[in-house]
Amino acid sequence: MERVLRNFFLFLSKNRFFTKLAKKYGLRFGAGKFVAGETIPDAVKTIKELNEKGMAVTIDHLGEFIDSESEAREAAEGCIKAIEAIAEHQLDSQLSLKLTSMGLDISEALVLENMRRILDVAEDKDVFVTIDMEDFERCEKTLEIFKKLREEYEHIGTVLQSYLYRTVDDIEELNRYNPNLRLVKGAYKESPKVAFPDKKDVDNNLKKIIKIHLQNGNYTAVASHDDKMIEYTKQLVEHHGISKDLFEFQMLYGIRVERQEELVEEGYKMRVYVPYGNDWYGYFMRRLAERPANVAFVLKGIFGK
Ligand code: FAD
Repeated sequence: MERVLRNFFLFLSKNRFFTKLAKKYGLRFGAGKFVAGETIPDAVKTIKELNEKGMAVTIDHLGEFIDSESEAREAAEGCIKAIEAIAEHQLDSQLSLKLTSMGLDISEALVLENMRRILDVAEDKDVFVTIDMEDFERCEKTLEIFKKLREEYEHIGTVLQSYLYRTVDDIEELNRYNPNLRLVKGAYKESPKVAFPDKKDVDNNLKKIIKIHLQNGNYTAVASHDDKMIEYTKQLVEHHGISKDLFEFQMLYGIRVERQEELVEEGYKMRVYVPYGNDWYGYFMRRLAERPANVAFVLKGIFGK
């Protein structure tokens, strides 16, 4: 049943009609549990609250499935405004973005132009930018663009997903860039031709890539709500004497908040991924797919409390 629900929400997450409708009608159906709000001031307020609790943030200007140049330029403008707000309010925050929102499905030239505009401001304001990883179809292109930009900029990292067979090769290949990488299990529906269908393999592969990347001496963000992954990382760094400056834990806004606080109390660097903006639909559907128990929030949103 869980698998059926997961596939159902992942199917919904790709629906362009609902994506557009959601933008028009604003945060609905309990999405506010996972999305900080629709505007930069909403996001700034949330980041300040998290920073006060000792947590760093990466802010995500929500956006995907953009199909016109003007929308992509507008999304880039939104990212630049977010970076400026981080600097103005002296927030402990990075920025995350998706290349499809920068025009990946339109042209590489457009993405590079938008990314360079963002990264020029990011370097100037000392704000780090992470390129989120999307579905398998866009993985190769995303990594190619990341490599190009990494040769020009310092303040840039990306994400690798442990559910993909190709990821161990990618992590070794990227090593020559000494990249700051976020390592995740992966949030999209992929074919068994390209991704492990069995969760146990996905978990084992996440442990494997955490180990490789840390042992290569590269900055590693372990982005998971899974206690097994967190405990594994803690033991690994202790066993190999890896400095706390070389890794951090990351979790999503609104998910396992108490665990986030515990990790801060234990002295670990904890970064919360805070999405904001009116393009919340796809993000929200993927969170429901990960944990259909969250559907209770949707029902509350629809039928009242
Ligand atoms: P799971 O095995 O899914 O969950 C482990 C436990 O965590 C569950 O048993 C449950 O207790 C808890 N949990 C997990 N999800 C939820 C939830 N939604 N609500 C409540 N409890 C929950 N994926 C990408 O494909 N590309 C990205 O760029 C990307 N960036 C990410 C950034 C961050 C900071 C994080 C934390 C995740 C990101 N992801 C990304 C999503 C990731 O790939 C997984 O889909 C997601 O993190 C769920 O996997 P998990 O490792 O938390 O473990």
